[in-house]
Amino acid sequence: MSERILIIGAGFAGMWSALGAMRLLDQQGKADGSVEVAVIAPQPELHIRPRLYEKNASTMRAPLSEIFANAGVRFIKGYATAVSTAKNSVTYSDEKGRETPISYSKLVLATGSVLFRPDIPGLAHAFNVDQLADAAVLEEHISELRRLPESRSRNTVVVAGGGFTGIETAAEMPHRLRAALGKNADVRVVVVERNGAIGPDLGPGPRPVIEQAFAELGVETRLGEGIIAIDPEGVTLASGERIDAATVVWTAGARANPITKQVDAEKDAFGRLHVDRNLKVIGHSNVYATGDVAYAATDDDGNRTMMSCQHAQNLGRSAGHNVAADLLGVDPLPYTQEKYVTCLDLGPWGAVYTEGWDRQIKLSGAEAKKLKTRINTEWIYPPSAERAAALAAADPLRIVVA
Ligand SMILES: Cc1cc2nc3c(=O)[nH]c(=O)nc-3n(C[C@H](O)[C@H](O)[C@H](O)COP(=O)(O)OP(=O)(O)OC[C@H]3O[C@@H](n4cnc5c(N)ncnc54)[C@H](O)[C@@H]3O)c2cc1C
Repeated sequence: MSERILIIGAGFAGMWSALGAMRLLDQQGKADGSVEVAVIAPQPELHIRPRLYEKNASTMRAPLSEIFANAGVRFIKGYATAVSTAKNSVTYSDEKGRETPISYSKLVLATGSVLFRPDIPGLAHAFNVDQLADAAVLEEHISELRRLPESRSRNTVVVAGGGFTGIETAAEMPHRLRAALGKNADVRVVVVERNGAIGPDLGPGPRPVIEQAFAELGVETRLGEGIIAIDPEGVTLASGERIDAATVVWTAGARANPITKQVDAEKDAFGRLHVDRNLKVIGHSNVYATGDVAYAATDDDGNRTMMSCQHAQNLGRSAGHNVAADLLGVDPLPYTQEKYVTCLDLGPWGAVYTEGWDRQIKLSGAEAKKLKTRINTEWIYPPSAERAAALAAADPLRIVVA
């Protein structure tokens, strides 16, 4: 082995980067071990973050060991703690806490995002659905609620943040609470959103559908309101209103994984690294960024990637292809993803599906839910572990949403 492509992270972007790189090496007759593709992550599994608001959160994972082994990708179980772009080296910590350095010829940062936690008193009392372990804690808490004496607080969930994740979480909650507390339980779900409208980042397009779904599901909203304190029995709003709730779910935004701070390069307000059209970090010849840590142009019209699975999958395939192309001296394929859609789960009510950056509604209710179910149970899962199929699926020009 003389060269190494090192990928940090085995999420949507990291998994697809590894397969995308192996695919090009294979096509170029270089899958002979002369270039190693290695992935460092805490576990050889894909965590299906877009489903963490659902029940049974701890099952939202898919194994990657067989796919990586068949594709010829080396998996290193560990957690990257330091990146030195000057030395082309990453240090990772293994299960026993031992720190090991590993060098790279080319690096792909695919470490995803983490929940934004502002300095709000009592935030530690809130649950969240950001990572699989967090969502599993919430699941356990909900299933234990029935052991508490009946009270308004026990039966109430406050969802902090009325963005994409907050809406999906809130729409599931009446049903999840009734599953835990009994079908006739008098449950209450309240979404608190600082903006004056629900789904502020989703724009006005899908809003009437979200409002209708909330009304029919019995989800209340407090709009133009901020939470100023959280305690084990509920929340206090800036207006002084008190909402007693044994369950508070914090969903207010995401930031790029903090390891990006170790790369001296321009970043956006969310900490994402500015990348060129080939997903190379601007100012760094050996470092690529992909998925939620990349701030990338999707087209020539000024649109930029969102922290989304939709973008992370394509960004991953493109980063993998281009990092291998860079090493082999082959022409890269600039990343583009002109089509933009959203499919928002609205719990038992259904879903809403939009197309375009102005989010025009194309489907709603049960029809949209069918599509959401396909996305969430098929399209975002790893490909077949069979080598040829896995590599073929990593084609950066593959159109998933036509
Ligand atoms: C509740 C919820 C609902 C969502 N719904 C949708 C949706 O409907 N549609 C949509 O498009 N997107 C949705 N998203 C967003 C989507 O999940 C993310 O954009 C996507 O997971 C980003 O992929 P990624 O590969 O960049 O990061 P991730 O999937 O977060 O993967 C990051 C990987 O990096 C690893 N890692 C992190 N730090 C290190 C380190 N230091 N060393 C080694 N490994 C590390 C992690 O273990 C993981 O393997 C949702 C997210 C959440 C939380």
